[in-house]
Amino acid sequence: MRSFIRAERLIDGKGGVITGQPVVEIEGTRIKGVHKAAPEGAQVQDFGDATILPGLIDTHVHLNMPGNGMLLEEVMREGPEVLLATSMGSSAAALGAGITTVRDVGCFGTTAFSVRRTLELGYARGARVMAAGAPITITGGHTWYMGGEADGEAALRQKVRALIKDGAEFIKVMGSGGGTIGTASWRPAFTQAEMNAIVEESHWNERRVTVHCLCAESIDIAINAGVDQIEHAGFIRKNAPQQYNAQVAERLAKSGIPVTTTLAVGATAINAMRQMQQRDAEQEAFLGRWERMLAENVEQFTKLSEAGVTFVAGTDAGWRFTSFDSLVLEMQMMQQGEMPVAECITAATGRAAEVIGLDDRGRIEAGLLADLIVVKGNPLDDLAALHDLELILQGGVAHPPSPRAHRAPQAMIVPE
Ligand SMILES: [Zn+2]
Repeated sequence: MRSFIRAERLIDGKGGVITGQPVVEIEGTRIKGVHKAAPEGAQVQDFGDATILPGLIDTHVHLNMPGNGMLLEEVMREGPEVLLATSMGSSAAALGAGITTVRDVGCFGTTAFSVRRTLELGYARGARVMAAGAPITITGGHTWYMGGEADGEAALRQKVRALIKDGAEFIKVMGSGGGTIGTASWRPAFTQAEMNAIVEESHWNERRVTVHCLCAESIDIAINAGVDQIEHAGFIRKNAPQQYNAQVAERLAKSGIPVTTTLAVGATAINAMRQMQQRDAEQEAFLGRWERMLAENVEQFTKLSEAGVTFVAGTDAGWRFTSFDSLVLEMQMMQQGEMPVAECITAATGRAAEVIGLDDRGRIEAGLLADLIVVKGNPLDDLAALHDLELILQGGVAHPPSPRAHRAPQAMIVPE
């Protein structure tokens, strides 16, 4: 079946904008073409002063987690059935926000693979899922509850093979500690030899590797090992504020390894705390800590961008207060970090798809999947327009946009 949609403008996902009421032709599950005008006699769905964009891609989510403030430790007390059911809800929530694809970078066991399969079978609707399964981590390391513990080169190679056997499309590694209680964000987790073994084994099996790095030394180890992507790229030190490391930044830029932003995780935590009528001492401290962290993260994002590092948009949805509709906020934070607005959109569409290795989506182009959204107004003037969804199309099938609980753009965060 063929259909045609028209809007005032179209953002193509690779940095281009077409104005003058372009028409997108869809045939079945794919985009057939982009036209200057509809063919004679064609029935066109016209959206007026609106913008057609590729469906958004969130490159960093945790489907297992609800994104309602719960700690990983609390979430993981539930059995795999609850984690699986939560994950179905998470992928549906993302789709309702115009996010047609998510990349799950860490779940318990094989739960995200099961979600992916259920969606492929068409038994439920949700954002398409790309998944790594359990992140590889040292014994007792970040997210160890998910089942990805392994140490030593031989065991790590075996772990990579086992993950691929279960269905991993890429490999996620915890290169430093993180938000898991008792882990050290300021210290690399794996030795250089261990990281090399993970990357070699993954690449041998044609899987990309992305590494969670919260300290400078862990970034260095990841660069040396030749990883494909880095998550967060933090500069955390023990008992001290973060300290941007220009040498590591320069090496990172030179390597061409792209970084996933995850600025929304701090922004949503701050918004949640600020919305409380009253905060106890612990919540006050949590708010203060995140205000400092986010200010540092945005500043580091700007400096890394200036150094020439490439970024893709990823929210860490599921983690703490990061809801599955946080991608617009992520883009707004990137814009606040001085990224031009058109680039923020590319980072959540075409570049996101390219970096995570999905060549059938992320752009509006003949032959690609008909995953696209239509929003009122022009997101190039104000990214908040991306909340005003008129149409969500996934594989050519329309999906109703979720009514948004907090429709107004969330507060901008970074203190003066
Ligand atoms: Zn994460």
